[in-house]
Amino acid sequence: MEPVIAGNWKMNKDPAESRALVQQLLADIGEVKERIVIIVPPFTSLLHVAEIARNTCLKIGAQNMHWERSGAFTGEISGLFLTSIGVEYVLIGHSERRHIMGETDEMLNRKLKTALDIGLISIFCVGETEQERVQNRTEEVILRQLENGLKGIEPEVHKMIVAYEPVWAIGTGKTATPEQAGAVHAFIRKHLKKPCTILYGGSVNPDNAEVIMAQKEIDGVLVGGASLKPESFARIVHVTIP
Ligand code: PEP
Repeated sequence: MEPVIAGNWKMNKDPAESRALVQQLLADIGEVKERIVIIVPPFTSLLHVAEIARNTCLKIGAQNMHWERSGAFTGEISGLFLTSIGVEYVLIGHSERRHIMGETDEMLNRKLKTALDIGLISIFCVGETEQERVQNRTEEVILRQLENGLKGIEPEVHKMIVAYEPVWAIGTGKTATPEQAGAVHAFIRKHLKKPCTILYGGSVNPDNAEVIMAQKEIDGVLVGGASLKPESFARIVHVTIP
């Protein structure tokens, strides 16, 4: 499995800023061999970014989609609209969607099924809050998110990616230790049974990416803040992996 490095731009960068960012990223990243590099801009930038990234090393992801293909869902985006402009990946269940926008395991399950049906590769995010970790409930929470989110779905390599993102490590500058992350990844892998790419996310930066990706259970990283800085993201893309 090739290592995957994905950059989630969240609600940052208007179309003009996105164009400039992707152009600088391409210049800073240069040639990429045997790594999958995905950028995940906001919806309004997808078309612009997809055009610039066509035939380059960059793949495009979206930050969300609706589970229905079309209809009376004001303010939502269909996965079919995404595939029609060259988007290949979609984040499903990012903790900001779960915790700020109230997305439930059941909603995420429907989204995952639709993404699979229409050929979008989901990056399905799971992770515990700080309180849940302190209460020793990490495995219970992850298991619930996996079982409910993946009900009726067999995740397989190339069709779905799972991202372990401890909520307490996202945008906080706190990172799970490589051992903490490795242990949860092993737990997820055991539960999934079939081979699947599992990413770590949570305050990954150029200084900690190497030690995180050195963990044998970790197949890549999902990067937020550091993906907005081309030079930082390029360094993460090129970290040495033993
Ligand atoms: C994320 O947005 O998925 C994320 C991990 O953010 P950050 O790297 O800023 O913690």
